[in-house]
Amino acid sequence: MNPSADPVDAVPLDQGPTSTRPDPESASSGAVGAAQAYLLGNGSVDHYRQALADGVERVARRVATVDRPFTGVTPDELAPLVGGIELDRPLGDHTTALNELDELWLRDAVWFHHPRSLAHLNCPVAIPALLGEAMLTAVNPSLDTWDQSAGATFIERRLIEWTAARIGLGATADGIFTSGGTQSNLHALLLAREEAVAHAADADTRSTLLPRLRILTSAAGHFSVQKAAKLLGLAPDAVITVETDAARRMCPQALDRELERCQRADLPVMAVVATAGTTDFGTIDPLPEIVGRCATAGVWLHVDAAYGCGLLVSPTRRHLLDGIEQADSVTVDYHKSFFQPVSSSALLVRDRQVLRHATYHADYLNPARAVAERIPNQVDKSLQTTRRFDALKLWLTLRVMGPDAIGALFDEVCHRAADAWALADADPRFEVVARSPLSTVVFRWCPAGTDAELADEANRHARAHLAASGAAMVAGTMVDGRAHLKFTLLNPATTSADVTLVLDLIAEHAGRYAHDHAPERSDHPANLSCSVA
Ligand SMILES: *Cc1c(COP(=O)(O)O)cnc(C)c1O
Repeated sequence: MNPSADPVDAVPLDQGPTSTRPDPESASSGAVGAAQAYLLGNGSVDHYRQALADGVERVARRVATVDRPFTGVTPDELAPLVGGIELDRPLGDHTTALNELDELWLRDAVWFHHPRSLAHLNCPVAIPALLGEAMLTAVNPSLDTWDQSAGATFIERRLIEWTAARIGLGATADGIFTSGGTQSNLHALLLAREEAVAHAADADTRSTLLPRLRILTSAAGHFSVQKAAKLLGLAPDAVITVETDAARRMCPQALDRELERCQRADLPVMAVVATAGTTDFGTIDPLPEIVGRCATAGVWLHVDAAYGCGLLVSPTRRHLLDGIEQADSVTVDYHKSFFQPVSSSALLVRDRQVLRHATYHADYLNPARAVAERIPNQVDKSLQTTRRFDALKLWLTLRVMGPDAIGALFDEVCHRAADAWALADADPRFEVVARSPLSTVVFRWCPAGTDAELADEANRHARAHLAASGAAMVAGTMVDGRAHLKFTLLNPATTSADVTLVLDLIAEHAGRYAHDHAPERSDHPANLSCSVA
């Protein structure tokens, strides 16, 4: 909703803003006056400066002094603290509120700048982006319409052009910032669905077509594809999983088979979703092979580069994305591999015309005549209406640091992950899976001869123990039905010594667990599914 965009003269006088009406109760006028002091305005800039400086100081102190990525606090410990807060009784000043917040959150926060924060795709954040974040929320533009954003609209558009050029999408490309990869994928698949409907055989109507549309993605594709299919009204079995090879990349021959099978069954494939940086393995589907097949079959190719997009600025690894320039649409998450704070993501498309599938005009906001008047209303391209100026964070990052610096940082974490993979691979206590060209290491504690089920439990236990002690945050996942652990390295401050320490801790916790829970000794070879390293 954009009440601020309503023409003021359309509001009947007797329903006008409260402030224009005489207030019968002076007590409540006083309350408004006091409350107004909290609004950012020309009388409150000192308050604004002080409040933000104090908040920054609280975070800075924590960042400077935390010695572990996490305190190990449990939900049972924190829930009552937060639950006990009386939200209808304000504290009145930000110092007291910050003291309270320190107990509720900051003291036990998860710190992604810590070198042993290895779990998920959260990055340490670039300071120019934090500066952007503080500024964008204070000015508070909304990027839906020009009349709420002015120059912000052009800053966003320049970044879209810049990203599209980095991908190599060509002169007709366009796109839009989104809240994240999930939204970018949904948006891409909405466009693909509408294109499929637009190009359907004459006999088909939307209602005969939708239940038959299929999306092909690899077994390691992101689950947001499934969610998008559901939101788009497709059949429950609309997403077909294409087999991956031993390196966890989509197998092109398997893609051939699925395309053929769909064709034979008269199930139109509305999109192939290739993943450039799978969330679980950090592997990249063979884009050149997939591109060719999609072109031949006339199928929309969406590349989900939510994770791998950092390669766009990599000084030495850009070639890993070769083929992406042929995609019809691309998801990028700057908040993963561009060191941007959440949220910062975009959807790029090869042909800007397709964005019309999400265009609706509202008289109050973006009337159709605005298009003829060449007023740049970004809402015409977006699934969102009110939308943050997230682009400012990337803008300041590029203007202060530049793309090469971001690329060098991402390169460095890829390099360190390769070292970490080699460390685990050479260590007889661990088994590693698919080596990632990005920054992921998937492995499992499983010394030769360990019972596979016991090893599952031991790995889970080790992960929980690490988090509870706060010594390190590592992720867990399942690979071929077996519990595995995962490092996602996005912090150039993580050293080999950190990795060695964490591997030792995992082996220690898992080893102790396995020792304490070993079943009665049996010599069943069937139980010995861990190979000798
Ligand atoms: C993280 C991720 C997503 C989802 O992105 P969000 O920003 O978390 O919504 C989609 N695809 C891939 C490959 C991802 O790694």
